[in-house]
Amino acid sequence: MGTVSHPNPLHCVQAPSTLATVTPADAAPSPRETIRIRPALDALPAYVPGRPPADDGIQRYKASSNESPFPPVQAVRDALVAAIDGLNRYPDMGARALREALGAEHGVDPAQIAVSTGSVAVTGDLVRALVDAGDEVVFPWRSFEAYPILVGMHGGTSVRVPLTAEHALDLDAMAAAVTDRTRLILLCSPNNPTGPALTTEQIESFLARVPEDVVVAIDEAYREFVDPEVAPDTARLFAEHANTVLLRTFSKIHGIAGLRIGYAVAHPRLARALTQVAMPFGAASLAQTGALACLQPAARAELAERAAALRAERRRVIEALRAQGWEVPDSQGNFVFLDLRERSGEFADFADARGLVVRAYGDDGVRVTIAETEANDRLLEIAAAWRELS
Ligand SMILES: *Cc1c(COP(=O)(O)O)cnc(C)c1O
Repeated sequence: MGTVSHPNPLHCVQAPSTLATVTPADAAPSPRETIRIRPALDALPAYVPGRPPADDGIQRYKASSNESPFPPVQAVRDALVAAIDGLNRYPDMGARALREALGAEHGVDPAQIAVSTGSVAVTGDLVRALVDAGDEVVFPWRSFEAYPILVGMHGGTSVRVPLTAEHALDLDAMAAAVTDRTRLILLCSPNNPTGPALTTEQIESFLARVPEDVVVAIDEAYREFVDPEVAPDTARLFAEHANTVLLRTFSKIHGIAGLRIGYAVAHPRLARALTQVAMPFGAASLAQTGALACLQPAARAELAERAAALRAERRRVIEALRAQGWEVPDSQGNFVFLDLRERSGEFADFADARGLVVRAYGDDGVRVTIAETEANDRLLEIAAAWRELS
């Protein structure tokens, strides 16, 4: 990465792509392609990943992808190093050890745990298991940008339901959006990128209004960042409602986003269907090993401390931003949302020039990950400077 000085290797993201070194002059001319690509792909939005820090000598913090600012815990490192020796073998396709551990954790049969390459892949599996061409998937918007891509890629129709004025899921409008073509509803809680979380009561009364043959997936990618006193009892809701499914990931608080592993807790028929459509060997052996290591008691304790520290930082940042005069939604995730509307891109550039990489969402707003304390302090400085100049 050339001349950039990064005191913490975490800030130095993404090696240059080798593809970039092939200039058009070196490349052989391509024969003319007459193959037919599915027209559905023309309408797919592109997934825009969080920007990596630019390589221009300014030391930057990456607060654009909701990653953990901490490196993997020691137990994960040790387990991964030990597992390298087995890399000549395919992974356990049934991810037996991991599913047993997760089954015990969630109080379900291991057969009810569906594991794949990140919970994005599991969400794609849900669409493939449930949605035929023309069937509808209802989700909030703005929300996780993978949703419309996964739905469209598998031939479904996205039904985007706008958030409330407080940037929370509008469950009344979502219930009203259900038709007899609806097969799946995605509830993102806490909602990425805006932050509000649903309560047990809200989800329960929503479930009462949704037909029992429509699957309601609760995407809990940020579950560990929710203040314990308001965290919804999704385990009970799952146990009582046969049409619910919980989505979890090891990419956020567990700090192994690079390994790509996530899972669903599903009722038996859906779990079987998810296994049928899952990519064979999708959960790599190192990913399974890393996830299992996160579930060991010492690792859990350390991850719980990190979650508590990030929650405290989130509180500190939100209070300070409000004191500066910002209107900040009540985030329960490891991120905050600034309602900057049409000035979102401008703010992202402003922050970038001052050493903080954030994520702008069109004309909706800017999401900033709660990261290491210095990065959070930098956000507060930048936010104050912006208000002074605007
Ligand atoms: C980050 C995130 C995920 C996790 O995706 P992985 O594929 O497991 O890395 C899932 N849902 C939401 C809403 C997210 O923000």
